[in-house]
Formats: sequence, structure tokens, C-alpha cells
Amino acid sequence: MAQLKEPIHTDVLIIGAGGAGMMCAIHAGRRGRHVTLLDHAEKLGGKILISGGGRCNFTNTGASPAQYVSQNPHFCKSALSRYPSSEFVAMVESHKIAYHEKKLGQLFCDHSAQAIVTLLERECANVEANFELDCSVQNVEVISETESPRFKVQTSNGTFTSDSLVIASGGLSIPKIGASGFGYQLAKQFNLKVVDRAPALDGFVLQGTSVQTFCALSGLSVDCTITCNGVTFRENILFTHTGLSGPAALQASLHWYTGNEVKINLTPDVPDLFAWFMQKKKEGNKSLVKNLLSEMIPSRLADLMCELHFPSALPLPDVSEKALKVLCEKIQSWTFVPGGTVGYNKAEVTRGGVDTNELSSKTMESKKVKGLYFIGEVVDVTGWLGGYNFQWAWASGFAAGQVV
Ligand SMILES: Cc1cc2nc3c(=O)[nH]c(=O)nc-3n(C[C@H](O)[C@H](O)[C@H](O)COP(=O)(O)OP(=O)(O)OC[C@H]3O[C@@H](n4cnc5c(N)ncnc54)[C@H](O)[C@@H]3O)c2cc1C
Repeated sequence: MAQLKEPIHTDVLIIGAGGAGMMCAIHAGRRGRHVTLLDHAEKLGGKILISGGGRCNFTNTGASPAQYVSQNPHFCKSALSRYPSSEFVAMVESHKIAYHEKKLGQLFCDHSAQAIVTLLERECANVEANFELDCSVQNVEVISETESPRFKVQTSNGTFTSDSLVIASGGLSIPKIGASGFGYQLAKQFNLKVVDRAPALDGFVLQGTSVQTFCALSGLSVDCTITCNGVTFRENILFTHTGLSGPAALQASLHWYTGNEVKINLTPDVPDLFAWFMQKKKEGNKSLVKNLLSEMIPSRLADLMCELHFPSALPLPDVSEKALKVLCEKIQSWTFVPGGTVGYNKAEVTRGGVDTNELSSKTMESKKVKGLYFIGEVVDVTGWLGGYNFQWAWASGFAAGQVV
């Protein structure tokens, strides 16, 4: 009769070897814990490699709880304060990785995101963390609530037992590089609540006639302020074939729920566009309205906006004040309800996730299941665009790494 293989025991088993999982492994390993990281991907760091346009916006020097969306906005405070961005920057510098600030505190590698993957791999090797790649999880069970080992995990690479089990399997965005709903399913298996999820940092699709109207502007980028659910960003929007992308639209999509309005001011530096036109009129300016407008917004957009409101090519004196007012309103307060956001194939993150009420904000441990931890994007903590999501991955991984 064939002998059943003995399970392999490890102190800490981490499912998901992305940023959060590796950070947890490094800090648990530094405490002398024997760690195994399991991932169904064949190669490490898929998300990191595609992040920040291939240069990984690995943190933000201004990261604070204010830049995170969660049902409990206080949850992220403890972890972020114990592992601030300066800690990760110190690690980047100790690995002699060249980096720069692009804007608004966003730190990027000068060369390639591969440098961050290599850093994490080396730090994991220093603590002799064991990797099981191309490994799929078949079953997870609690075998003892009080004694070691607590968990038994059956996988395509054999059975593992562990004292701590850390779920770092990320969210649903970009399924083609390995995203899965594993963490949410596991949370449900243990009766933990999961906050509704949605793709975020993905921009908007327009609906109805707006699609045909604005797709003519595809490829055009415009500085604006964008407001959604009371949160305003000053960045660029990028018109696409189906809607709006660019940093401003990505940021707004994180705050958008079905049915919400989005409001855009296309001339954010002009306090009152109508008053500006009236002043020009008073001065006897006879230019075409669209030419005047193109002093402030790209001419393709100026032409389209004028065409939508009166016969194009009208000089300023021939346009009624009423028509001008409508035009200005449209430009400074363009309000619409998007058909949706773009979706998980493009989303940088998943909003929602394992309910923070189920977890300790200090350790990320489940309040219901001793020894079970959730870290990184799988948790209902989602950062703005700009390095905040990696900062959460590092900070929550560090928090769990102190105790697992
Ligand atoms: C295109 C893009 C660009 C981005 N750019 C930035 C940026 O510049 N700055 C920033 O801060 N954030 C950025 N993000 C967001 C950031 O990448 C994530 O928030 C972060 O990687 C989350 O880390 P994580 O470790 O929690 O999850 P992940 O990095 O997603 O890691 C999860 C791991 O779990 C594995 N896994 C999933 N399911 C299973 C399973 N069933 N079994 C075994 N393993 C499994 C996956 O293969 C993966 O390796 C970007 C995201 C995308 C998609």
C-alpha cells in the first residue's frame, strides 16, 4: 500500500506571494519564524512588475489614513503609523535602488519595477523563507484551535500544516496575471463578513449619446478638477473610445458608487468663465468663441463644446448671453452619471474586501479564528492612486509579520 506523505510543517504559511505576503514573510523571518509562501503564479511579483507603468510607484511620502477608503476609516491608522513610507524608502536605499519623486510625494524606481521584486526576493532569501510557486490551494481547515499545528492546507504541491495562516491573495483586478477571489471565499468559509467589492482606480465608461459625442476626443488629455461623492481631485482626464481615463478619472472611480454623479471643471484656474467672456465682450473682442475658449482648453475640446451649444464658428458678439451661460456651465460644471467604471481587466485595485470589523487593526488577525490573518488588498482598505496601495501592502504585511 502506498504510504501517505507526511504533511510539511511550517510556522507561518502565507497564501499569496505579492507585496504584502513577502513583506510579512521578511518580518516574520527576522523574528526567527520558519515561513512558507504559496502562490499559484509561476513567477513572483507579477503585479509589482506591471505597476507604475513598469517603474512601480512603491510608496507615497505623504501617505496617511486620509488617502484610504474603507467602511472603517480608522482601521488603517495603526499599521500605517507603525510602518510609515520612510521605512520602505530606507529599505529601497539600502538596496541601492535609484528612485525619484514624480509628483505629489509619489516615489518611482528610476529604471524598472524589477528592482522592487528583487529587493523583496533577496530579503526573503536572507530569512530563508521557502517559496512554493505554481501551487494551487485545494482545501484549508482548522485542525486545532489551541495547539500547534492549527491549520492544514492541501495544495497541488502537497499538504502543509502551520501555526499561523496568512491570506495575502490580493483582489480581483487583472485576472490574467493571477488575481482570484480566493481570499474572499476563504473569509466566507470561516464566516467572516466581506464588504461588497468593485473594480476601482479604473476610470469611467460613459453612457447614451455621450459615448459618440466624446469618443471623438479619444487620446486627448485635459487638466481639470473632478468631484465624486464629495471628494475632489486636480489632475488630468484622458478621453478614451468609451469614456474617461487618466489620473483624475482613476481617482474619482475609487469614490464612485452606481448612480453617483461625477462633476468636472475643465477650466479649474478660471474662477468664473462666464464673467471672463462678458469682460471680453465689453472690451469689444470679436474673436470666434471657440478660439477664445481654446486659450484655456485644447482646441479639439473647445470646438466640440461650442458645436454642442450653438452653430460653430460664431464670433463672440453673435452668441447670446443665454447660450454662453449654458456653454460655461457645461465647461465648468460638466455633470454626468457614468454607465459604470471600466472593470477588473483594467482596474488597479479592488475596493471592498474582508470586513475590517473582523480583524485586529494592530495585528490583522481574525477576531473569530485564532492564527488566521488577512493582509494587503484582500482587506477592505483601498488607497488612492499614487503609491498608497503598496504602502498599505507593506504596512499591513509588517503588522502581521510582528506577531505571526
Ligand atoms: C496595472 C496596475 C498598476 C498598479 N500600480 C500601482 C502603483 O504604482 N503603486 C501602488 O501603490 N499600487 C499600484 N497598484 C496596486 C498594487 O499593485 C496592489 O494594491 C498591490 O500589489 C496589492 O498587494 P497584495 O500583496 O495585497 O496583492 P497582490 O500583489 O495582488 O498579490 C497577491 C498574490 O496572490 C496570488 N494569488 C491570488 N489568488 C491565489 C490563489 N487562489 N492561490 C495562490 N495564490 C493566489 C497572486 O498570484 C499574487 O501573487 C497597481 C495595480 C495594477 C493592476
